[in-house]
Parts: sequence; C-alpha cells; structure tokens
Amino acid sequence: MSRYKEEQCRICRREGQKLFLKGARCYTDKCAISRRNYAPGEHGQKKTKLSEYGVQLREKQKTKAFYGVRENQFRKYFEMANAQKGITGENLLTLLESRLDNVVYRLGYGSSRPQARLLVNHGLFEVNGKKVSIPSYLVKAGDIIKVRESKKDKTVVKENAEINASRPVPAWLERDAKTLSGKVVRLASREDVDIPVEEHLIVELYSK
Ligand code: SF4
Repeated sequence: MSRYKEEQCRICRREGQKLFLKGARCYTDKCAISRRNYAPGEHGQKKTKLSEYGVQLREKQKTKAFYGVRENQFRKYFEMANAQKGITGENLLTLLESRLDNVVYRLGYGSSRPQARLLVNHGLFEVNGKKVSIPSYLVKAGDIIKVRESKKDKTVVKENAEINASRPVPAWLERDAKTLSGKVVRLASREDVDIPVEEHLIVELYSK
C-alpha cells in the first residue's frame, strides 16, 4: 500500500504538478512536489525540451492521472466528446467531471479522487435512490447522489464531510452534508474545471 502511495507522488513529480491523489497530505508541506519538484529517477533533475508531440502526450497523461482514467477509457471519452456538438476539448472535460467518483470527491465525501473511487466501488453511494458502484458512471443534471442509508455509519465519509466542510463545492453541484448527499444542478462547463489543463493539446494529439 505504501509503495502504491509513493507511486501516486511519483506521478505528480513526473508531471511536475500537484494532482491531489492523496487527500489531506497533498495540502501539507509533506507533499512530494513541495519537497522535490523534479521528475523521479536518475535523470529527473535534467531539463529536457519536449517535442510538440511530447507536450501533447504529457498533457494527456496528466489529465488521465488527475481523473484516474486508463488509456482505453480516456480514448472512449474523447470519441464521445468528438461526437457531441460543441468544442471537443470542453466536452471531454465535462465528461470527465461527470464521473461519479469525481462528483463524490467534488462534494467533499472523498478525500481524493482515488479514495472516492474506492468508496464508490464499495457500494457506499446511490444515485436517485439506486445503488451505483461503478466509479465511471456518468451523472446527469438533476441527479441526487447520496450515501446509502445502510452505510451511513461509515465513518470515513462522515469524517471527510467534516474535514471538507469548508472546501468550496463547484457551482454545478450542491452539497447537503447533513444528509450526506448532493445534487447535480447542471453539468460542469469549462469555467467550472479548475485543473490546469490545456485540453486543445489532447484534441490535437488524438487528431493526428
Ligand atoms: Fe503526493 Fe498529493 Fe503531493 Fe501529489 S499532490 S505529490 S499525491 S502529496
């Protein structure tokens, strides 16, 4: 487990950015990026200029790491985004934000996206009254996400709700910490996405 956790920090260091994969630790000076902001490995401190392809690739890898999505699924999201009306890059971000694990994290019921994914996997949440244990489930406007009644004694969610009570909830979501629930007021738009991503680079990469 600790190796896995170390691996998460290595991902951040490789991308040169905080990806907030570990919850509370990410907000302290114990964060590996605060202490060693260079890529892991023997040549990590060497500065290398990336090619155009390299820049696009890193942007994609970083975004995948932020949302914890594997290549196959990420490409599927791109294809869905491309088939939708509007700007493909923005559609892609909306789809990623709509994942149930991301919504649980955004509502403050998970300390990080990886933890939120585990909580969803363990069947702690329901959407519109029905148990959903698929982290990639895409929410829709009007959906109500709630901790299942039988799971309300799960202290981890309660603790997260208390710790994150002051963490702002994005405008497209509403949180009701008393009932450990939340509502999708509307789908996320580009302005709601606060992660440092240049989505046009991902679109360019996949459009080659
Ligand atoms: Fe590790 Fe979190 Fe810092 Fe990333 S942001 S390096 S996961 S502590």
